[in-house]
Parts: sequence; C-alpha cells; structure tokens
Amino acid sequence: MHDVDPLSMFRLDGQVAIVTGASSGLGDRFARVLASVGAKVVLAARRRERLEDLSESLPGSLAVGVDLSIAEDRERLVRETLEHFGRVDVLVNNAGVGHVVAIEDETLDEFRGAMELNVTAIWHLSKLCAESMVAAGSGSIVNIASMLGHVASTPIRQAQYCASKGAVINLTREMAFQWGRKGVRVNTLSPGWFASEMTAGMETDESSQRFVKTNAAIPRMGNADELDGALLLLASRAGGYMTGHSLLVDGGWTAR
Ligand code: NAP
Repeated sequence: MHDVDPLSMFRLDGQVAIVTGASSGLGDRFARVLASVGAKVVLAARRRERLEDLSESLPGSLAVGVDLSIAEDRERLVRETLEHFGRVDVLVNNAGVGHVVAIEDETLDEFRGAMELNVTAIWHLSKLCAESMVAAGSGSIVNIASMLGHVASTPIRQAQYCASKGAVINLTREMAFQWGRKGVRVNTLSPGWFASEMTAGMETDESSQRFVKTNAAIPRMGNADELDGALLLLASRAGGYMTGHSLLVDGGWTAR
C-alpha cells in the first residue's frame, strides 16, 4: 500500500466546468478531458448542433449556444450555468480567433474583433464567474493563450493574435493577485502548434511542416493528447499552489 495518491488530486468529481469554444479543436478535447475526471461540463460556442452532439457523449453536460463577442451572451452563459448547476468551479477560456494578415492590410475592425473575443470576453467571463467562485472561496480559471503571446509570430503575420495573447498572459497575472487571497487561482495555458480548424492544412502542408521542424526543439506539431495533463494540472487541486503562471506546451519553440 502506498500512502500517497497524487493522481487523485487531478480529479474534479462533482465540480462544474465551463469550456468556451467547445465546438471544435482544443476546446472539444478539453471538455472531454474534464468530463473524464468527473466534472460536469458546460459547452459553449456559436455552433450549437456541434455542442449538442458532444453533449450526448458527456453525461450531465449542458450545451449553451453563445456568441462570446457579445456581452449579453457572456452574461447568459454564466447565468444559465448557475441556474442549471448552482455553481461554477472551473472556467476554461478557450474560444479564440486569429487572422493571418500584414498590419498594412489589417483593418481596425479585424483587430478590434480579435481583441473583443480573445481578451475582453476573457476578462468579462472571468469577472462573472469569479463572483460565484469568490463567494464559494475556491475556483480555477484557465485562460488559453498561445506561445505567440510570448514571442513574435512572423513569418506568419498576425499582429491582432500576438497582441491579444500577450494581453491574456498579463491579464492572468493581475487576476491571480486580485483573487489569490479569495481562493481563486488564475493561470494561462500557452500551446504551440496543434491540429485544429485554426491550423487547418498545416499538418499536410510541406512548408508548414518544415517551418515547425526547423523551429521547435521537438520537431513536430503537438499530438491531441499532449495538452491533457497541463490542462488538468492547472484546473485541479494538483496545481493548488500555482497561480499567475503561463504554462508553455510548445515542443520547446520558445526555449530560445
Ligand atoms: P478552432 O478549432 O478554430 O476553435 C476555436 C473555437 O472558438 C471554436 O470552438 C469556435 O466555435 C470558438 N469561437 C470562435 N469565435 C467564437 C465566438 N464569437 N463566440 C463563441 N465561440 C467562438 O481553434 P483551436 O486551435 O482549437 O483554438 C482554441 C484556442 O486555442 C484558441 O484560443 C487559440 O488561440 C488557442 N491556440 C491554438 C493553437 C493551435 O495550434 N491550434 C495554438 C495556440 C493557441 P464556434 O465557431 O462554434 O463559435
């Protein structure tokens, strides 16, 4: 018999977790991972049919169709979560967008649109959920940024993406201090390249693969399951002494 049981600290039995952008890519995976360790998951995105399909495979989950660039929809998401479950323990702010365009050709609306979803929505949803987390004296917020919040992206030119992801990383640090004494932890998970709708085509494109091989210490894109552990570490009691951190899972891309 062992007197330590570290894996049990990664479980989220009975906890309620909101995952934004759960209709595809990383968010779909995050929702399944949280459900696999016992969480009741709230699935949020615009494509409601996809959320409903996913919800059918995750007992006890709730699908909420929302456009998170709209403030009223953000309020509705948290309101429906609290009405349905009476609590929220984990918030995974995953929904995000990026556009590849040179600054000279980027419009003000494109830049503002990305900032609204990638930064303002995270600030707003965190604020709305923190109200209930602070009252409960515990909670974990995981903001999905990117390694491109730490370093420049060019030759893939996406100023709005880099600016917004950098903002999320420092917003996370400030939230960690404002809520740290109230039991709420806030961390950032910053992935490198993973297959999703956002990176569609990269896996089969030769020059993209050469780009990844040249720049990452582990010369490939990440596998779908290689964010699972990092997500659970930040979301659960296993990361109970972590806050304000940006956890890079990027094959070493930013290591030099
Ligand atoms: P994805 O497949 O394009 O997923 C983006 C998700 O965001 C979708 O579920 C989308 O759902 C949702 N979304 C977009 N606009 C929305 C809106 N206005 N309201 C509500 N939901 C919205 O891309 P992904 O790669 O999984 O991206 C997930 C997160 O990981 C993003 O924050 C991205 O920046 C970050 N990330 C990805 C990578 C990567 O290599 N894949 C690397 C670093 C960081 P609907 O269209 O149904 O609304």
